Amino acid sequence: MVKKILIIEDEQQIVEICRDYLQADGFDVVSATNGLQGLEMERSSHPDLIVLDLMLPGMDGMEICRLIRHESPIPIIILTARHSEADRLKGLETGADDYLTKPFSPRELVARVHSVLRRIKLDKMPEKAADTYVQLDRDHFKARLPWGDVSLTPTEFDILATLCSQPGQIFSRSELLNAARGVSFESYERAIDSHIRNLRRKIDHDEENGRHIVTAHGLGYKFVE
Ligand code: CA
Repeated sequence: MVKKILIIEDEQQIVEICRDYLQADGFDVVSATNGLQGLEMERSSHPDLIVLDLMLPGMDGMEICRLIRHESPIPIIILTARHSEADRLKGLETGADDYLTKPFSPRELVARVHSVLRRIKLDKMPEKAADTYVQLDRDHFKARLPWGDVSLTPTEFDILATLCSQPGQIFSRSELLNAARGVSFESYERAIDSHIRNLRRKIDHDEENGRHIVTAHGLGYKFVE
């Protein structure tokens, strides 16, 4: 399947050269010239990876990164003209997966895109294991159940994929938090509980007592067939 890359960058020349190189390498490319448009495109065009410039008119790239990361685990590569180590670290802490300092070679960008996509794929193996009660469709963030499909948020999807990867095994809140890259900013393990309630409502039709998503008191949660 062709991977789609969203470039959020206001300098048209940079957009064009990145687009040329990425398209030549078989990627589908869409672009936005400011943060708000970028956020909208992230939601509407379902890219597989975002290339995000930090210096944008209006909303700062760091803020956009934070907002995107809050709702999606999508891989992000930031472009920065800033040279200090502190800025780079801040970008990575904000949830970016990699960064390139300007000026960069478009070939280097293509190589980073491949490497980040490969890394994310390796990170995300678990959903294969559970093809019995729940089947997971990562492309559409859906869970297929015997009675129909349910739509999940990326965070819910990651939590459920982790639980389903080893039915019967207990996962602690912090393990689930790590698995769900999108919730890292909420930083409290209790945040997992509200995602679990939402998942139970969707999967088990019962927020408090899941038949399939079961509480292991004092330990965490597990998936039961
Ligand atoms: Ca810029």
